[in-house]
Amino acid sequence: MALGQDNSAPMNTSAAVSTSAKVEAGDFGTWLAQMLASFRGPVGTDVPCGSCRGCCTSSYFIHVRPSDRKTLGVVPKNLLSPAPGLPQDHKLIGFTANGACALLKNGDCTIYSSRPQTCRDYDCRVFAAAAIQAGGVDKAAINQRVQEWQFSYASGQDQQIHQAIKKAAAFITRNRAAFPGGRAPVMPSDIAVLAIKVHGVFLQPESNGQTPAELAAAIVQASRAFDASRLTDTTEKQ
Ligand code: SF4
Ligand code: SF4
Repeated sequence: MALGQDNSAPMNTSAAVSTSAKVEAGDFGTWLAQMLASFRGPVGTDVPCGSCRGCCTSSYFIHVRPSDRKTLGVVPKNLLSPAPGLPQDHKLIGFTANGACALLKNGDCTIYSSRPQTCRDYDCRVFAAAAIQAGGVDKAAINQRVQEWQFSYASGQDQQIHQAIKKAAAFITRNRAAFPGGRAPVMPSDIAVLAIKVHGVFLQPESNGQTPAELAAAIVQASRAFDASRLTDTTEKQ
């Protein structure tokens, strides 16, 4: 779900997010189903942002894919730059000195109906679900909203699933060395997404007695299985 390319340094996400003022994040189970669907394909998410513009003002480079034809048709060429490490037809939209997206004017997106899939997929509730922050000081506006989100739960099982996601995120953050080659996500958005994908590992009773290496291996396996199911879904839709 990463909004784009995050130019901030990897951060220590281990500080748990505390809650203060509350904003209704919706039913957790419904949200999770929507989020997992968005990981599997370009369905986007529906975030009750209200007046928040946190992710449009947080120094993100916005990834514009070749498939974002409407976006490419309306964004001035001088606001599109090459996307490092990606093919030539992938672009980035930059941000101004104060961290605001170059397409945000007077607090509103000037290309809202043509915004790229990157923006349609962004949902800062993933950080609330994983109980981690979105980043450092340049992500303060998002962190504020993450603190405020409060999910509701239709069942005890949904609460258990939420706990499993939090456990997964905490494990990934604190046990990088347990992963093969030390390769575990570093960026907060990547940690949150992985935790959501693999939370089932932490619903298994045996997870309580497993070593960090065993848990890391189970996470890798679960992540591969999720991605394989996504590919299968994609193939079926073509
Ligand atoms: S930070 Fe979250 S609530 Fe704020 S605009 Fe972005 S997605 Fe919406
Ligand atoms: S393109 Fe629009 S929605 Fe996306 S970050 Fe920029 S202002 Fe926000």
